[in-house]
Amino acid sequence: MTRVIERKPRRYRLPILFLLIQLFALTALGQSSVVIKLDVDATQAQRNLIHTTLHIPVKAGPFSFFYPKWIPGEHSPTGPLNDMVGLRVTANGTAIPWTRDPVEMFAFRCEVPGGVSQLEVTFDDVSQPGTTMSARLARIKWNRMLVYPRGMNSDAVRVDAAIKLPTGWQFATALPVQRERRDEIEFKEVSLTELVDSPMITGANFRKLTLASTPVLHEMDIAADSPAALDVKPATLQGWQNLVKEANALFGAHHYRSYRFLLTLSDVGGSEGLEHHESSEDGVGEKALSDPGQLVDLGDLLGHEYTHSWNGKYRRPADLTTPDFEQPMHGDLLWVYEGLTEYLGKVLPARSGLWTPENFRESIAAVGAEMDNQSGRNWRPLVDTASAVQFTYSSPRAWMNYRRRVDYYSEGLLLWLEADVIIRRQSQGKLSLDDFCHKFHGSPDTGPIVNTYTFDDIVQTLNQVTPYDWRGFLDERVNRINQRAPLGGITNGGWKLVYNETPNDEVKFAEGQRKFMNLSYSIGLMVSNEGTVLDVNPELPAAKAGLAPGMKIVGVNGRVWSGEALHEAIAATKSEPGPIHLRVDNGSFQDNYELVYRGGDRYPHLERDSTMSDLLSEIIKPRAH
Ligand SMILES: [Zn+2]
Repeated sequence: MTRVIERKPRRYRLPILFLLIQLFALTALGQSSVVIKLDVDATQAQRNLIHTTLHIPVKAGPFSFFYPKWIPGEHSPTGPLNDMVGLRVTANGTAIPWTRDPVEMFAFRCEVPGGVSQLEVTFDDVSQPGTTMSARLARIKWNRMLVYPRGMNSDAVRVDAAIKLPTGWQFATALPVQRERRDEIEFKEVSLTELVDSPMITGANFRKLTLASTPVLHEMDIAADSPAALDVKPATLQGWQNLVKEANALFGAHHYRSYRFLLTLSDVGGSEGLEHHESSEDGVGEKALSDPGQLVDLGDLLGHEYTHSWNGKYRRPADLTTPDFEQPMHGDLLWVYEGLTEYLGKVLPARSGLWTPENFRESIAAVGAEMDNQSGRNWRPLVDTASAVQFTYSSPRAWMNYRRRVDYYSEGLLLWLEADVIIRRQSQGKLSLDDFCHKFHGSPDTGPIVNTYTFDDIVQTLNQVTPYDWRGFLDERVNRINQRAPLGGITNGGWKLVYNETPNDEVKFAEGQRKFMNLSYSIGLMVSNEGTVLDVNPELPAAKAGLAPGMKIVGVNGRVWSGEALHEAIAATKSEPGPIHLRVDNGSFQDNYELVYRGGDRYPHLERDSTMSDLLSEIIKPRAH
């Protein structure tokens, strides 16, 4: 992978152009290339411990090396520095003392003695159980296992990597394999950029499925905690094959030499969703292929991470494109990077048959309701949730409704749905957001290169599809405070966001997964199954009565706490309005609270508006199968 800026890619000149630019960039920076030898010993993966040995060419004198800090796709300084332990530097068998930079803690310094041309750096990657491994599988993220000469462009650092796996474990990765001998794999030399972008999954229970072999290989690689979990239903396999066809039809070209979905199925190996150019890390629960709810959720995850190969990896905001793993990334265009991906990540599973039209509508209703009820939207414009990604992504759940966390995903989705509907209406159904994707992310087919963009490029391409005040449209929704969510895609798409007592499928699934009750649209409360208040909407009855995150409800209308008792109390307000009496622990104190509410249970759904044409159904019609 080479980071090249190409505004107008041309079909035949591309490879020469990008080699020339790379050559120029290297010369201008005075950097020569360096080849690092990386040997990873993953034989103790079951213990959440991986040993790494690096051989780095050096010259005598001061030498600085760097542990990857800003991780692509995470948009934040999330390199797990705490997990790097046991660091030792030696030269020809003699220990070399090292020091850490007192300000930039990911940087290390040492003094290379005369006559030394290579340093050996060793350390262990130790992780909290469940982070990237279980007893039967592991996700190998190379950025956790290496350091590189500080200040060097990651395209100029070449890495010759090898790994030793636990006995009998199989593996998959986008990295090209040089040699394979029992449990030891040697890879072809690649740039540091490509290495970090090409993680591996490995495990005792493994399965590889070819989803498409033309025009290039598309593979579903599955590592699971049990052999039974690997069972794939024919309809699921068909849906995955359709997903590849639908994505390629949507964009009209691809930007990988082959593509691998690296799927891990484990309840302890950590859920994951991380995009790469030629693969994606998709981590879900062990029973995801047999449990209907988890299977729907997986469709969303696969659609999202796969879309990123085009939107995020190939087309990337210029401010998010950095030359190494030290320079900070700017997140202000994440409502495109993640927002458009979130939208297409739901459209594609619906077009592929992994989702029913009802799954799509329930999901859109859940997103629309959540965004429309974010009280934080009264103080924080959408762009700020993206610009502040360094802390919004890891934001605590308490007061989340008021904080307004990573809304660039969900509100970004609504914004792109609205843009899609505008294009369809303006063109009387002749054009759609698919045409934008064709122009912006499509032809020609390329390998894994980066083509950066700015806000102006988005506006310009939208105008090429359909002339409209796109600058005003985006500025209004992204940069300004708006009391209501952008629901125009739903309403002008022929549907209405309504609330009734029937639980929303997506809300219900999340409640089951995270063991909590989502009462956001009735009394404005999220509460754990044990009664602990997780969040409140400051503008709705629970907060107005005085409840706050961290308190624990122990009694409902004179009865001991149970989720059922609270549900019954809320449902009863439909016919008998009256306060709901709650007894609540707050630390070592206990008090009574009165919730003034009427209206019963409320969950979001989409209801057909027959006065408008049904564009939402048009959007999810298959176009490739
Ligand atoms: Zn994403």
